[in-house]
Amino acid sequence: MRVNVDGTEIEVPEGTTLLEAARAAGRQIPTLCFDERLKPFGSCRVCLVGVEGRERPVASCTTHCADGMRIDTQDATARRVAGAIVELLLSELPDPPEPGTELAEVAAGLGVTTTRFDGERHARDHDTRHPYLAFRHELCISCGRCVRACDEIQGAFALTATGRGFEANVTAGLDSGFLQSDCVSCGACADTCPTGAIIETSLLPAASPAEDRA
Ligand code: SF4
Repeated sequence: MRVNVDGTEIEVPEGTTLLEAARAAGRQIPTLCFDERLKPFGSCRVCLVGVEGRERPVASCTTHCADGMRIDTQDATARRVAGAIVELLLSELPDPPEPGTELAEVAAGLGVTTTRFDGERHARDHDTRHPYLAFRHELCISCGRCVRACDEIQGAFALTATGRGFEANVTAGLDSGFLQSDCVSCGACADTCPTGAIIETSLLPAASPAEDRA
C-alpha cells in the first residue's frame, strides 16, 4: 500500500504502523514507551501524529497504515500535546532528566527545557540491595518498558507495575528487591529504561545513605 508522510509518498507492507512508516520515510517521531524489541504499548502518547481526516492525533506506534493515508508528523496539536506530556513527566521528577537518557533527548527534541507545572515531586528512593542492578524509584515515569522487557525478552516476569497516578512505579518481586525476586540479572530492564531509573550499579552516581534502601 502507499502512504504519504509529510509530503513524501512511500510504499509499505500491510501491518506497518505509522511510526514505522515515518521512520522509513526518514522522519523522526519522539517515543518514550516504545522499544522496537517489544510489542507496541501506546501508553505514553508522545508519538502522536496527525492523520488527514482524523479529528484528533493518533498514537503512531499502535496505529496501522491504510492505503492512501496522509500522515503529518509535525501536526501542531500532536506536538503541543506531546510537549505537555513531557512537561508533566518532568514536573514529578526531583531533577531535570539526566543527560544522555532517552527522556532528556525526547524533551530536547520537543523543545521542552523546563515545566510550567509546579506539583509534588518524587522523593529520592534508591534500592541498591542487588549487586548489579539499582532502582532509583523517583526517576520512574511508569512507561512499562522494564516490565515488558522482563516478560517478553527474558520471560522472567520478575517486575510488576504498581500504584496509580503519582504513586505509579515498578517493583521487583513482592517489593523485596531484585535479589529476592525471579530476576536473573539479564539487565534487559536497565537497557530499555528511558530515564535511568533502573541502572547498572556500577554506573550509579554516589548517593547519600539516607537515599538508599539498605
Ligand atoms: S523503571 Fe524505567 S523502564 Fe521501568 S517503568 Fe519506570 S521509567 Fe519505565
